Amino acid sequence: MLKYKLSSVFFCMSKPLYVTQPYLPDKEKYYRLLDGVFERNQLTNGGPLLEDLTGRLKQYLGVKYLLLVANGTLALQLAYKMKGIANRKVLTTPYTFAATATALDWQGAQIEFSDIDPQSWNLCPKALESHLSKEEFGALVPVNLFGMPCHLDALETLRERYKVPIIYDSAHALVSRYKGKSIFEYGDIHCISFHATKLFHTVEGGAMIFRDEADYERAKRLINFGQDQFGNVSEAGINAKMSEVHAAMGLCVLDDLDTIIANRQNAINIYKERLKGKVQFQSAKYDQYTTPMYMPVAFKNEEQLKLCIKSLNDQQIYPRKYFSPEALAFTDISLKKTPSILCLPLFYSMPESAIAKIANCLPYEC
Ligand SMILES: *Cc1c(COP(=O)(O)O)cnc(C)c1O
Repeated sequence: MLKYKLSSVFFCMSKPLYVTQPYLPDKEKYYRLLDGVFERNQLTNGGPLLEDLTGRLKQYLGVKYLLLVANGTLALQLAYKMKGIANRKVLTTPYTFAATATALDWQGAQIEFSDIDPQSWNLCPKALESHLSKEEFGALVPVNLFGMPCHLDALETLRERYKVPIIYDSAHALVSRYKGKSIFEYGDIHCISFHATKLFHTVEGGAMIFRDEADYERAKRLINFGQDQFGNVSEAGINAKMSEVHAAMGLCVLDDLDTIIANRQNAINIYKERLKGKVQFQSAKYDQYTTPMYMPVAFKNEEQLKLCIKSLNDQQIYPRKYFSPEALAFTDISLKKTPSILCLPLFYSMPESAIAKIANCLPYEC
């Protein structure tokens, strides 16, 4: 396997270091694609770049029914609408980005949170079953958090046993694998985000991946106001189309994706080497591959986490908690203890000296 060296440029500690940075592709390449957009004067409502990106992503991910959309939140809202969760109870995780739950609320679902596994920080299948065996739910919404796949076999069993649709928030999990297989072989719909800060991006954007062709065909109408090819609207949709300008960015970033993945994986390996014994890492008991997008670490308790944030901030290094159940204040959340997790800075071409500096700020034993 190819190893990519981390940038050896001198790392200037007087510049603040943030949790992430968007990946910028070659500017000239992007401009060439934009020249074509200007020549054709076709900016959106489909077009050759959108078609090209759709085809290339299908091939890259090995999926059949993929639809590009304007952002990951709309992907979630559309998936929720398609599975008819309005006024129904939906089970999801309290430990995720706000959009997983806000989109549920927006679509009129009654949100119920289920407990997470202390190692993978993903929904615990046993806890889910204790909910499912007691009452009916409109859908399950697991998140493949920080790119680590949930226990997909166990969730598939629940899907069949309780005849409940599963909508995966796979915003972090573009290239994740479970027991050697694509995670997209599981569940009913996967929603992905292509926001600028994600591993692969189109500035703003997202995708939906479907198990069934019928769902895919329906979603194609729903992202275009609900119109069919003749302009008839048999079901109210919304505008969730991706533009040609956004698709152009996606095509450029996709050219570099293998390099981005290898580079981030290398940084994660260095982090893990240096942080061994100081913190806990996300882990799973089953065979899986985690998309190398975040560097989350868990502390013994909130005090240690706060101490760590302080000592990093003192060096102008700004990690992020990213997700905390308490932030979902619009829900009636009542939680057992959740792990104290912090995401350390991780981005393309992160200097090894920065990782060393960060590791030296974490003198705590786990
Ligand atoms: C980024 C993200 C979203 C939202 O995607 P956008 O493209 O920003 O709308 C949803 N869920 C999770 C878990 C995310 O990280």
